Amino acid sequence: ASGDRVPVLVIGTGYGGSVAALRLARAGVPVHMAEMGMAWDTPGADGKIFANTTRPDHRSFWLRTRTRQPLSQFLGYPLDKDIPCYTGILDAEEFAGITVYQGRGVGGGSLVNGGMAVTPRRENFPAILPSVDPAEMYAVYYPRANAGLGVTPVDPAWWEGAACYQYARVGRKHAQRSGFPFVFVPNVYDWEYMKQEAAGAVPRSALDGEVLYGNNHGKKTLQKTYLAQARATGRVTVSPLHKVTTVTPAAGGGYTVLIDQLDTAGAVTATKTVTADRVFFAAGSVGTSKLLTRLKATGALPGLNDEIGQGWGDNGNVMCGRANHMWDPTGKLQASMPTAGIDNWAAGGAFAEVAPLPTGIETYASFYLSITRNPHRARFSWNAAANRVELDWQTAWKQPSIDAAKTIFDPINAKEGTIYRTDLFGAYKIWGDHLTYHPLGGAVLNRATDNYGRLHGHPGLYVIDGALIPGNTSVNPFVTITALAERNIEHIIAADL
Ligand code: FAD
Repeated sequence: ASGDRVPVLVIGTGYGGSVAALRLARAGVPVHMAEMGMAWDTPGADGKIFANTTRPDHRSFWLRTRTRQPLSQFLGYPLDKDIPCYTGILDAEEFAGITVYQGRGVGGGSLVNGGMAVTPRRENFPAILPSVDPAEMYAVYYPRANAGLGVTPVDPAWWEGAACYQYARVGRKHAQRSGFPFVFVPNVYDWEYMKQEAAGAVPRSALDGEVLYGNNHGKKTLQKTYLAQARATGRVTVSPLHKVTTVTPAAGGGYTVLIDQLDTAGAVTATKTVTADRVFFAAGSVGTSKLLTRLKATGALPGLNDEIGQGWGDNGNVMCGRANHMWDPTGKLQASMPTAGIDNWAAGGAFAEVAPLPTGIETYASFYLSITRNPHRARFSWNAAANRVELDWQTAWKQPSIDAAKTIFDPINAKEGTIYRTDLFGAYKIWGDHLTYHPLGGAVLNRATDNYGRLHGHPGLYVIDGALIPGNTSVNPFVTITALAERNIEHIIAADL
């Protein structure tokens, strides 16, 4: 409530925020979490909490009147449609040169993501987080994160025969025929539930294409893992539809935090003032960077250093599809949870997730989200006249990512006698180079903060989310975000509390 004083306020309920809340609460500290998105715990008129990927509705997008689907076209037909403006689950946040997709709601990105839970290869770690000791990450914090998230491998024997992973087996065949390493990757989806879906024994979720706008069953989101455990301590409260707008030093110590309460149309219905001894920024790479950039520029947090807003990267995301021959169907039933990747990082700077294209029809398409070694880093800045934070990423900066992805798919196309799809991202457009699912950086560890996420210049302020990671993790990022948060919060609890 307005006027309250709390020991810890956490901004955001994604991976970083959930780890902080659980560990602080277990250490005996009461924690309050403010989340701008909805709780996602109440079914809509159709009896379901979440909308299907193929039938987006008002629940699907954050405050937009028209959908902005990552695949904007199919066979030449535009897919986007008008929807009522609502505090929906997926934010397609548009900056000048890139659309950044993010989850909105209690659970953050875990609500909308593919659940693909990848630990980077250890030899790549020094480039990911140069100031962090790999030995302790791989011995302690990656295992702790994987356990906390409920990460498990798919049963390989079941996978080999499952109709819903035909697309992944085609992906493997093509990778191996061209000599590329094919790797299984674990996921947070409940594989027993998926087996039951395949057997027709339970309502379908992954096998009904659910992912981008939420999974009604099967996926172990943060609501079911870290946040459930945090609430079980009795010391954590969560306020959904509460957006933090300002953090500034309070007269008697601690920080004054201004929070807008939103209705489901996005209108501000109340503004609350809370005083917090400590504030954890866990609003995601973009959310944390936007807040800190504005608070520094407007003088609310004058002690922040010049690294704020710097070092932002897109994890080298680029998408593409390939058109297979008729003898390589990828299946009309495709599980929305990916299980595999093609690892050409060492030789070509690309790790390609063998992604589903769950349209419900046979497309003969193979679809991939490549994570690539892209050297470009963008910077957030405050535009006072326009009253907004801007990001200087340029679409042309995706070219190194396209070049890296081509080290995998040009040889595969040559070997298979196939071509790229040109109908998925606009007419005659091969590369999905307009977006990222993996924003990283903006308040980089050991630069904007110390080596544990303490913001320079303001004791008691911390960053604990993807903003700490300088732009690339060489694989999908949430396991690394979680593991880094586990490392940092352990140190902070021991040293600061
Ligand atoms: P987030 O999870 O983004 O959480 C930040 C939270 O803060 C959000 O809930 C947000 O609403 C809230 N917030 C923001 N600003 C404010 C504010 N001012 N006040 C209050 N609350 C605020 N990664 C993988 O590893 N594997 C995958 O398979 C995968 N698939 C993905 C698929 C999609 C479609 C998307 C969008 C992402 C995917 N990702 C995947 C990426 C992954 O979800 C993110 O890297 C991860 O969620 C980032 O964690 P975080 O803790 O930094 O922030």
